[in-house]
Amino acid sequence: MKMSRLHLRLLMAALLSTSALAQSLPPPRIGDQPGFARVVLDLPKEATYQIEPLGAALRVTLPGQTVAPGLHFVSLPELAGYVLEQHENQAVLILLTPQGVTPRSGYKTMTLAALQGDGQRLVIDLSGAFVDTSPLPAFPEFRFIRSGGRRFSVVVDAGHGGPDPGALGPVAEKAVNLEVALRVRRFLQNAGVEVVLTRESDTAFSPDKRTDLAQRVALAEGKDLFVSIHANATVPARADGWCGLEVYYYSPDTTRPFFPSPVPLPPTPLDALEAVQPPPAQSPLDPGAQPSPEDLNPLPPQSLPSPTPQMDSLRRMELSRTLATRVLSYTLGATAAVNRGVRSANFYVIRYTSVPAILVEMGYLSHPIEGQNLRNPHYLDRIGYGIARGILEYLENDHPFK
Ligand SMILES: [Zn+2]
Repeated sequence: MKMSRLHLRLLMAALLSTSALAQSLPPPRIGDQPGFARVVLDLPKEATYQIEPLGAALRVTLPGQTVAPGLHFVSLPELAGYVLEQHENQAVLILLTPQGVTPRSGYKTMTLAALQGDGQRLVIDLSGAFVDTSPLPAFPEFRFIRSGGRRFSVVVDAGHGGPDPGALGPVAEKAVNLEVALRVRRFLQNAGVEVVLTRESDTAFSPDKRTDLAQRVALAEGKDLFVSIHANATVPARADGWCGLEVYYYSPDTTRPFFPSPVPLPPTPLDALEAVQPPPAQSPLDPGAQPSPEDLNPLPPQSLPSPTPQMDSLRRMELSRTLATRVLSYTLGATAAVNRGVRSANFYVIRYTSVPAILVEMGYLSHPIEGQNLRNPHYLDRIGYGIARGILEYLENDHPFK
């Protein structure tokens, strides 16, 4: 089709006026900070924006703005790259976030005045260690559970202690482990579960590591399960990037990690209905008194039937894996932390236990932000709640010999 002179002139005028109205935005500025990536967008004063967390990406929509479309790679633990798209009447910036973003985690935003002129700066900080550290809502008590007239009994192992501090960060690992173990005990006891701690203070059974671990494992004999609580650390070169939760079970073979979905915290009113159900009263072992949190006297072990007679190693491994999956799912749901998966390993305390056993790594003390999270009592409440909740769900739904 042949274009007339007039048409051509009109078209040129239209193009000129468009470019004069909507000046293309400068590309985002990217900064590498300890434990997070900072993205700064320089915007006109009147600009508006919407931010949507999409899991593996954060989408920033800028109505009325213009950008030069393109894909740009960035090599940071928190930001793999970004995409700029020009849609009809809006610009879109997509930040590729390998550590993940959710409505509760992974990013923080603020707007600041421009350093020069009258524009504004949209600042987006990205890190997997931006998690939910708000106080736990006032949950109703856990529902009371028991199995066929006997109480479930669980060993909670606060890793390290005494001469062995474990990993070091802004706080010693042994201290964080104990804080969370005490919380797990409280939540489980509220649900009627008998809890044995391997330690209740800064101690160890022996300065000799092997003897100490053997004593911890021995406590699991005749109990329902064993949960060891630890925090992690990595070498300085990776300290900025590695964060999140992982849960281990023992397998003689190397297996690939898998990544269960987080289970969100329950909506409080519905759970409250379940929580007021009275416990079953007719039990030969217990005349029906609901244990209060102060009821710390366990039944003598010899009066309990062994919960898992002749459990073979394959069965124990399968149950440990299920327990690990439950605990990771609920802990992720309570914290919104990065999911580093259910993994198998050869650690002593999960290998030599006679009952289903897992080891929880609550996060990385070496990470500049997560290390601080692990000092936050609200965050430790959330981890403790998630671990306890996962244990209870396992006992109710998966544990043999109900
Ligand atoms: Zn440890």
